Amino acid sequence: MLIDLHTHSTASDGTQAPAEVLRAAHAAGLDVVALTDHDTTRGWPEAIAAAPDVGVTLVPGIEISCAADGISVHLLGYLIDPQAPGLLAELEHARTSRRTRARRMVELLADDTGLVWEDVVAQAAPGATVGRPHIADALIAKGVVASREQAFAEYLRSRGRYHVAHYAPDVVHAVQLVRAAGGVPVMAHPMAAERGRVVGDDVIEQLADAGLAGLEVHHRDHDAVATSHAADLVKRLGLFATGSSDYHGDGKPNRLGEHTTEPAVLAEIVRQATSGTRVVEVDRS
Ligand code: AMP
Ligand code: FE
Ligand code: FE
Ligand code: ZN
Repeated sequence: MLIDLHTHSTASDGTQAPAEVLRAAHAAGLDVVALTDHDTTRGWPEAIAAAPDVGVTLVPGIEISCAADGISVHLLGYLIDPQAPGLLAELEHARTSRRTRARRMVELLADDTGLVWEDVVAQAAPGATVGRPHIADALIAKGVVASREQAFAEYLRSRGRYHVAHYAPDVVHAVQLVRAAGGVPVMAHPMAAERGRVVGDDVIEQLADAGLAGLEVHHRDHDAVATSHAADLVKRLGLFATGSSDYHGDGKPNRLGEHTTEPAVLAEIVRQATSGTRVVEVDRS
């Protein structure tokens, strides 16, 4: 039973539509995949409709961009009620702010790259959560850079001169909102130091007190030290451990199933969820 609980589609910064992600997951030999687009559940209807035909069990989820004292934290939320008012309002606020922020980044980039807002619009699916990867794709389309990797290194990195921050909910609040929405909160890549600063153990302790259920222990952005540190925290704080690919289609080197989650952990996620959102099972009879 192969379970990958972290993937992105064109509803955010992945390069494949939700149904394509599921087909790719099936082709990769996965039994269960979670769709966890940044700050949106927009990809769910297509994925929910496609899953039974494709033959992959779907866990509807989300990855919420949060902040803790100015440090970026990503929170996965599984099986949330997508209509829960508190969470919905925060997500709408974040997505609106992401658009404003992307426009400001384009303004900053315009002189040096010739980029205009329409170039970015052309790279994002209608209604998608706009992120820096769409700006990267626009820079690629213009021939300014050859890859998302190069775009981030030269133009988009968080402490670079073209970077603008967007609104992100406080992560303790976000954990509470995911629980209030009946979902199960898991901190994504908690020790991924290469992306920027990471929070200290004290913040993760606070999150555990607020209702955090698990840590994404196994992830390509964790080296051996980070992985064992995260595994220790899981034990000490009574959480569970997941492992996932963080697949973005062609947008990143991450391959489906490169890290996976134990079936018992998925069962625990299902057990803890209290919303009406269900895992979409495949009829294997
Ligand atoms: P944003 O959400 O707009 O702040 O952009 C962050 C997103 O960019 C992350 O979710 C990653 O998927 C993506 N990202 C970050 N660094 C890179 C990179 N070096 N190459 C490709 N994608 C990246
Ligand atoms: Fe992403
Ligand atoms: Fe993330
Ligand atoms: Zn992700």
